[in-house]
Amino acid sequence: MSLATLPARAAIALGDGRFVVDTVEVAAPGPGEVRVRIAAAGLCHTDHQSLRWPGPLVMGHEGAGVIESLGEGIEHLAVGERVLLNWAIPCGRCPRCAAGEGHLCERTHGVDPELGSSDAAAGSTRWRGHPIGRAFRLGTLCELTVVRAEAVTPMPSALPLQHACILGCGVMTGVGSVIHSARVQPGDSVAVLGCGGVGLSVIQGARLAGAGRIVAVDRRAEGLERARAFGATDSVPVQDDDVDLRQAAAAVRQLTGGRGVDHAFEATGVDRLAFAPLRFVRHGGTALQVSGARGAASVDATEFWWDKRYLVPLYGGCQPERDLPQLARWALDGRLDLQGMVTRRYGLEALPQAMDDLLAGRNVKGVIGFGGVE
Ligand SMILES: [Zn+2]
Ligand SMILES: [Zn+2]
Repeated sequence: MSLATLPARAAIALGDGRFVVDTVEVAAPGPGEVRVRIAAAGLCHTDHQSLRWPGPLVMGHEGAGVIESLGEGIEHLAVGERVLLNWAIPCGRCPRCAAGEGHLCERTHGVDPELGSSDAAAGSTRWRGHPIGRAFRLGTLCELTVVRAEAVTPMPSALPLQHACILGCGVMTGVGSVIHSARVQPGDSVAVLGCGGVGLSVIQGARLAGAGRIVAVDRRAEGLERARAFGATDSVPVQDDDVDLRQAAAAVRQLTGGRGVDHAFEATGVDRLAFAPLRFVRHGGTALQVSGARGAASVDATEFWWDKRYLVPLYGGCQPERDLPQLARWALDGRLDLQGMVTRRYGLEALPQAMDDLLAGRNVKGVIGFGGVE
């Protein structure tokens, strides 16, 4: 264990749409912090958006690694322990944390400044002599990161970190939205709009919850094929002219005796489809938007008829201590397929290729490996 400042290779977003791979300096962890040697980091569309956030900024918000050193006051973790990083960092003290809703933590969301910050101390990462920030307080596209201890969750040693690293974003969002937000029950019917990384995680969650019918809806034949492999029972291809998914909704109603499904999840990543899942659910059903849509989307008030619920869950209601070890157990006993979701691995220097593949939709999940521990 070294408590010196250490150099680390990192991907740095410049704020204008570009990024570079360069060396940063990562300080020893302060009180309440840990320094983690990252083994693998998952990529998602948020990483592309981060290229235009105020920079420079160490990229990456999904990752797993090994604790390299501990700051003062950390008793419950050990150097050498394998951990998953988690961007929704609960303070454990605010009203939302106390109510078991740590994903809505008032420290992380900046609701109550008295709670302090979910960030590591300012200046713990420096580039060209100046302090720089880390995406989502993690910056996992870097060989080393310093984070608050509340941002790490121990992982079983049998789970490869190159698989574990994708748990902390899309997989948690998809599976958690099914289990905690929609509360899908055995035998329920589910429709999933969009079969990318989040949509396939919803499908796996629906399978884990014991859903009866799981209908995959996607434009791409390969998306539907993958959906079947991950547990969809039916598939509805979207026609080119079906821009608002009305034809697809009619097809799904037909599959369900004219009723609509109990739960429909929008995971297309297309902002104007934010309300589309309302058209797929039965009276009293639940429509969920899990793709992080923003901006304007229009909806006819009658689409809420009757007794429909509309939810926009954050991060599948993630409570790290409860959920992340559970996801790891499901992965280890083969009930949650992570290996099948990681369709390509890259070294950090190949990040330009990995970002191209992300934008072109060539992967379910691309993972950056840092060498070292698997
Ligand atoms: Zn809190
Ligand atoms: Zn993500």
